[in-house]
Amino acid sequence: MLQGGQGLTVMDIDTDFPGSAATGGMARSREFMLTFDDGPLPGATERLLSALATLQTSHGRPVRAGFFLVGGAPESFWRQRYYYAPYEIYPKGNIVNCPNLVIKISQAGHLIGNHTMHHPWIRWPWLRNPAIIREELLAWETAIQPILGAVSPRLFRSSYSIYSAPVSDSARWAGYRIVRGKTTGDTAPGIGGEQLKLMVLRILKNWRQPYPCVLIFHEHSHATCNHLGAVVNYLQQEGYRLGEFDPARLPES
Ligand SMILES: [Zn+2]
Repeated sequence: MLQGGQGLTVMDIDTDFPGSAATGGMARSREFMLTFDDGPLPGATERLLSALATLQTSHGRPVRAGFFLVGGAPESFWRQRYYYAPYEIYPKGNIVNCPNLVIKISQAGHLIGNHTMHHPWIRWPWLRNPAIIREELLAWETAIQPILGAVSPRLFRSSYSIYSAPVSDSARWAGYRIVRGKTTGDTAPGIGGEQLKLMVLRILKNWRQPYPCVLIFHEHSHATCNHLGAVVNYLQQEGYRLGEFDPARLPES
């Protein structure tokens, strides 16, 4: 704001997108950040790291993404049924079994977040207990401690994006910052690169907030593993800016 009653207001806005009621007069952001859930998964993690290494942010810097990893996905059928959502069809990651992948992610400069130990669907009556949720958070820390030590910053994304009060309260109790995002739909069965481009473009076109849009991809998505570079390049051609994953630039949630 200029001082002295000159009748002018100076705002840091993107002139293509003048302020709207949804952003309280501030321009909506055209920036996006990349995050990947449900790893580490052998094969997929390496492919994503390779794709990310070929990309640059809109400031010409290497891309830093966020990887929300699973501590030790249940392996037997009945343990999967105990923890997972009834509709679950995808494999989940395992930090304990894949320490080398965790190290690769970290050494590539990406941030690692807590996506629980077992990827529980906390709508099951037997998992709805806050004590179980806290145990999921702490068991994840026990899993990653021998590999990376204490992970910082402390970032959390809930399995199945369920943020009921017990989940959110437990995460804050354990000192985590909750990082939500917009799921890209990359796990829809049979989708290809062209569909994924359009789905993500639609998310960014509808984004109304003044801070960057955090996109959620999944390591078990073939579309993401095969087409990540093409999708990001397409979004950049459409005028959207790829930024470094930086939770400090997002509102507390
Ligand atoms: Zn997940």
